[in-house]
Amino acid sequence: TEENAAEAGQAHLGKERGQQGEPLVVLTDVNKHYGDLHVLRDINLTVTKGEVVVVLGPSGSGKSTLCRTINRLETFESGSITIDGVPLPEEGAALAKLRADVGMVFQSFNLFAHKTILQNVTLGPIKVRKQKPKEAESRAMELLKRVGVDHQAAKYPAQLSGGQQQRVAIARSLAMEPKVMLFDEPTSALDPEMINEVLDVMGQLAKDGMTMIVVTHEMGFARRAADRVVFMADGQILEQDTPEEFFNNPKSDRAKDFLSKIL
Ligand code: ADP
Ligand code: MG
Repeated sequence: TEENAAEAGQAHLGKERGQQGEPLVVLTDVNKHYGDLHVLRDINLTVTKGEVVVVLGPSGSGKSTLCRTINRLETFESGSITIDGVPLPEEGAALAKLRADVGMVFQSFNLFAHKTILQNVTLGPIKVRKQKPKEAESRAMELLKRVGVDHQAAKYPAQLSGGQQQRVAIARSLAMEPKVMLFDEPTSALDPEMINEVLDVMGQLAKDGMTMIVVTHEMGFARRAADRVVFMADGQILEQDTPEEFFNNPKSDRAKDFLSKIL
């Protein structure tokens, strides 16, 4: 049952999940085209508070488009998306608020090159969340410590390794106190020896109860951290299951084929 699955998910990371089961991100019959390309097809997905959903699928299946649509970086033609019960806003202050509520970490770290690490993290809270600079700074230092780069606070992004920059990008998103974090292949651009330091930070975040949607090719992370695996192909969700069930007993030919190529 779903309850057993949720319990199994809880067991493997041993996390506390107070509000388990409350829907946070809900997509209902979402469809999107790029011209003739039907890139999201009748997507139905509910992510509950504290849940970690890992999205897997071959290249071109629509995983990035899904993340960008949830963050309203892309529009969609039909269906609905709600975050904590509120439909995605079209524009203005409500959209800025949504972007703060839905943190996103990309493959490329996208830090502001001409701002220090500390400034990168305090900018959003000061501008969007209207925090006082002192308050934003002390919170930023806490977050930088949490991701292990507090000693680099006065440096500029180019002075940090890729793994450190990506951890700063995570801290920057967290500074906005998001309700959910989206990760789109956060380790794909990193040298191999830096992948684990970023996955460890993400694993800790999951353990602490953050709601997360993670697109990744790191199958170890998916097995370890996911409460649920969502498998996409050709713009459709073909399977949604616990990692154990998905990896041991994939149902669709597309999933079997995908797993045979990567495992
Ligand atoms: P994934 O992240 O799973 O690799 P994407 O969401 O990036 O897949 O892309 C899904 C499909 O949409 C691909 O065929 C891709 O070429 C196409 N696509 C992505 N972005 C655009 C765009 N801005 N304009 C037109 N086609 C796009
Ligand atoms: Mg992608």
